[in-house]
Amino acid sequence: MTVSERDPVQQVEAAREAFEREFERFARFIGDDVSAVGLSLKEAEAEQHALAELRARHTGKKSALAACKKLIGRVAPEQRAEFGQLVQQQAASISESIEQVDQKLNSLIESARTERDSIDVSIPGRRPRPGHLHPITLMRQRIDDIFVSMGYIVEDDREIETDFYNFDALNIPEGHPARDTQDKFYTTEGFALRSQTSTVQIHAMQRRGAPVRMIAPGRVFRRDTPDPTHNPMFFQVEGLCVDRGITMAHLKGTLAEFVHRLFGPETQTRFRPSYFPFTEPSAEVDYSCFNCGGKGCRICKHSGWIELGGSGMVHPNVLRAAKVDPEEFTGFAFGLGIDRTCARIYQLDDIRLLFENDVRFLEQFR
Ligand SMILES: [Zn+2]
Repeated sequence: MTVSERDPVQQVEAAREAFEREFERFARFIGDDVSAVGLSLKEAEAEQHALAELRARHTGKKSALAACKKLIGRVAPEQRAEFGQLVQQQAASISESIEQVDQKLNSLIESARTERDSIDVSIPGRRPRPGHLHPITLMRQRIDDIFVSMGYIVEDDREIETDFYNFDALNIPEGHPARDTQDKFYTTEGFALRSQTSTVQIHAMQRRGAPVRMIAPGRVFRRDTPDPTHNPMFFQVEGLCVDRGITMAHLKGTLAEFVHRLFGPETQTRFRPSYFPFTEPSAEVDYSCFNCGGKGCRICKHSGWIELGGSGMVHPNVLRAAKVDPEEFTGFAFGLGIDRTCARIYQLDDIRLLFENDVRFLEQFR
């Protein structure tokens, strides 16, 4: 007997029975049955997927129930209303059962997700490790503060420079030994990593004109083989003061004041004649040892003096290169090594300790 030949009422009952057989496994989701509560998120999602498939099979266009609906028009007119009602009742009852389970699964999934995403406030927190500034940064800030309080501005600029700023403008012409490829890091033709922060003086004078009072702390690069007192990258601070009537006396007074503030008011300074291409006259600057006060000790190698850096009156050619008139303006410049000063103050035997970033070393500067 084919489906169409069977009694329509029997067909509706058969559809109902087939649904109930498959629906049995979802019965636990109806009412207050607690066995469904322990479902994991993954399990609940799988059940919801299975329910959606069941819904398609038993209420979709190709379902047995849909076939029954098509029979309504074929039954005898006097039975049609009753049969139609039966089919509608069955369809509504099946849909309602599925809907109940679907709602229950939705709430289970929602609470499982909330639980998964919630924070367990009973877990002890991770204590953040507070950091601190690097000793070179601390040293640079001390130097910055002293000069800023004397009316200097702090300038910063690029580390890759053209020949003009690294050499020509600093009175180091083509063929000068300071341009030796053994001493510099050339990148491409016409570009080099700056070998001194003096390059910033030129940029600053071009931008601001004269008068100017500035310092330029920053990294510089030279082709030195690393050893306890050398590193191919190190930190310098460069100072420049250009105005009308600036003399060597201003230079000496400024650096004397600087070492007083950095090492104490009893600190002495000493100037030794020297040569730099960008200053004329030029001088090396020493200060009396902060440890022994000049008597001689291990830090000052028993000389009583420690070298601060180079200095001098800005060469007229340097002023001209920055479009400042040397007939109207004069100025002084100086430079000192930040990491070297830092190594002295903290009595480091090896300057490379400052660049290795070993936390066991750096933690001592907290
Ligand atoms: Zn000493």
